[in-house]
Amino acid sequence: SDVSSTSSVTHVSQYACQRKSTLDNKNKIFTDTLELLAENCEFDENAGSFVAYSRATSVLKSLPYPITGMNDLEGLPCIGDQTRVIIEELLEEGVCSKVESLLCDEKYKARKLFTSVFGVGVKTADKWYGLGFRTLEEIKARKDITFTKMQKAGFLYYEDILQAVKKSEAEAVIQIIGDIVGQCAPDAKVTLTGGFRRGKEVGHDVDLLITCLEEGNEEGVLHKAISKLDRHGLLLFCDVVEATMEKRQLPSRKYDAMDHFQKCFLILKLDKRLVNKRDYGLASGSAVRLTDKRTEDENKTMIKGWKAIRVDLVIVPSQQFAYALLGWSGSRQFERDLRRYCSQEKRMLLDNHGLYDKNTQEFLKAETEEEIFAHLGLEYIEPQERNA
Ligand code: ATP
Ligand code: MN
Ligand code: MN
Repeated sequence: SDVSSTSSVTHVSQYACQRKSTLDNKNKIFTDTLELLAENCEFDENAGSFVAYSRATSVLKSLPYPITGMNDLEGLPCIGDQTRVIIEELLEEGVCSKVESLLCDEKYKARKLFTSVFGVGVKTADKWYGLGFRTLEEIKARKDITFTKMQKAGFLYYEDILQAVKKSEAEAVIQIIGDIVGQCAPDAKVTLTGGFRRGKEVGHDVDLLITCLEEGNEEGVLHKAISKLDRHGLLLFCDVVEATMEKRQLPSRKYDAMDHFQKCFLILKLDKRLVNKRDYGLASGSAVRLTDKRTEDENKTMIKGWKAIRVDLVIVPSQQFAYALLGWSGSRQFERDLRRYCSQEKRMLLDNHGLYDKNTQEFLKAETEEEIFAHLGLEYIEPQERNA
């Protein structure tokens, strides 16, 4: 609406859902720095600065050209003073002093290290830091610390989980889950979502939606599938969260809210023989050659013959499938801006279950993501363009 007609510079929207952001990021030097600063603000629960750095990062990711001077920032939204200072320093010095000191900061280093364990959040990390711990070895060695089941699994499979999940591994996981879920309900369908759906080559986990053609058939599928995985010896860890759906509940106003679907957070034991060999650097046959192309941890995976992989499974009733797919496809910033756009520009409320129009006081049905974008008056953005 506020596009100036005289300007030759294309207008960049303040909302990520009105920009296209592919994985071809022309401003990685800037966005890596800003993302680290945003992460530290999130650790500090400094919501204001977290949002400022995150939005600025996202705007830079959408640009088809690299920023080469401060003039390039003219007319861009969401680039505030604290961001400008960082960009200016990077342009002049090539490094950011704030990041340099953060990377040497005891508290930041401990938070980063501790939260890299599955099941450990900032609260726990800060508790351990306060107790004087600085390494994972110190924590593991203590007999007087109680760990949750999730954290125990996190320590047990730490090296595997820390390694990124590769696309070929995600494909093998889809195959396994697809087979098993198909045995639990004949009309069940598994859909890849999350970062891999956005075209990423690696991820921290595999996000899958499970839905049935006929509404209601998905009931019981999750527990059946989990016991099958267990009987096949594939289940290393499982945390089921039951559905908490209240009928006709209005979408949450929070931009970062969790959804109400039945879901589980898994660690699967993935047999390396099920994974396409190209990603393990093996030319042919089963002989394990320790080439220096692989990391030490990857070599360990090769020797033990399997790798622990984080998987999220979400059970979705078919009526809500399009909304769940949109909500789980990410990126986080794309989702936050989509919801913010809805409430600020459209007087609508969006979440992973549906879209509520406050103007007409009704829920809007959608069978595809395209229909949801149409309801919102937005140009459709492909998943590969949602890497905001
Ligand atoms: P990565 O490659 O690191 O896994 P990702 O984009 O797939 O990147 P995830 O943390 O797996 O990141 O999340 C995928 C999407 O699902 C995000 O958009 C996030 O908002 C959403 N999401 C994650 N966890 C939940 C949850 N418990 N409830 C609702 N939505 C979630
Ligand atoms: Mn993911
Ligand atoms: Mn996930």
